[in-house]
Amino acid sequence: MAERQGRANGPAPTAVPFSVWLREIQAALAEEAPADVPCGACNACCRTSHFIHVRPEEKRALARIPRRVLFPAPDLPPGNLVMGYDREGRCPMLVDGRCTIYADRPIACRTYDCRIYAATGVAADRGPIAERVRLWEFTYASREDRERHAAVTAAVRFVGDHPESLPSEAVRHDPLRVAVLAIAVHERFLPNKILLLADGGAGQKTLALHNEFIGSVTPIDGKATAYVCENYVCQLPTSDLATLVQLLGPRQEVPGR
Ligand code: SF4
Ligand code: SF4
Repeated sequence: MAERQGRANGPAPTAVPFSVWLREIQAALAEEAPADVPCGACNACCRTSHFIHVRPEEKRALARIPRRVLFPAPDLPPGNLVMGYDREGRCPMLVDGRCTIYADRPIACRTYDCRIYAATGVAADRGPIAERVRLWEFTYASREDRERHAAVTAAVRFVGDHPESLPSEAVRHDPLRVAVLAIAVHERFLPNKILLLADGGAGQKTLALHNEFIGSVTPIDGKATAYVCENYVCQLPTSDLATLVQLLGPRQEVPGR
């Protein structure tokens, strides 16, 4: 959720260089910099029934938000709060279409960027946001940019095909968390690795004629299972997403854990 001040010089731009956006969203998700969304006059995400998480250390936001609209955050340690919304789904800090605490808005608002839906192809679950998302377009300065975007959408497909490997049931039903997860793991889908789906079908049987190991790859305990091999060394197979992320490279946070 970014600037909702409107722009004096016509509509906000909708075309974004993909690589620039990707760097920005990664920085926003790591909370290194706020999301810089050219929202223009849009305020869709401020009026679509979001509970806004406010952490205990967010003193400036807490000083501006009336206590009566804050509630203990479920499943989080004491001190964590959520800001509710009115009967129309509007944030209580949204007045006359504008954020009245913009300079002190919570981190959840600073890091929100609806372009993540456009980039991942994950459907936004709120109509007004989905409408705005349809306007975003990406441009590509290089082949690598296109490959990165393809890797992001490949990560979404993988998550969709293997919901049982998601960190929790809650993630499966939360499109934003699925999109964030895809951004977090997309580098694993860049085309410098070979990814084989061993489904016991004709493709696996054919490959097994040339490589005995491929024929032995099966799900374990009925769960989708990853077999990671590098430089002719195979790791123990795993059905756990966090373990898979670790096996594939330097540790990354898995959202939802
Ligand atoms: S829905 Fe998107 S464009 Fe609209 S205010 Fe939120 S972040 Fe900005
Ligand atoms: S605090 Fe401001 S930016 Fe955040 S949801 Fe409310 S109006 Fe929008």
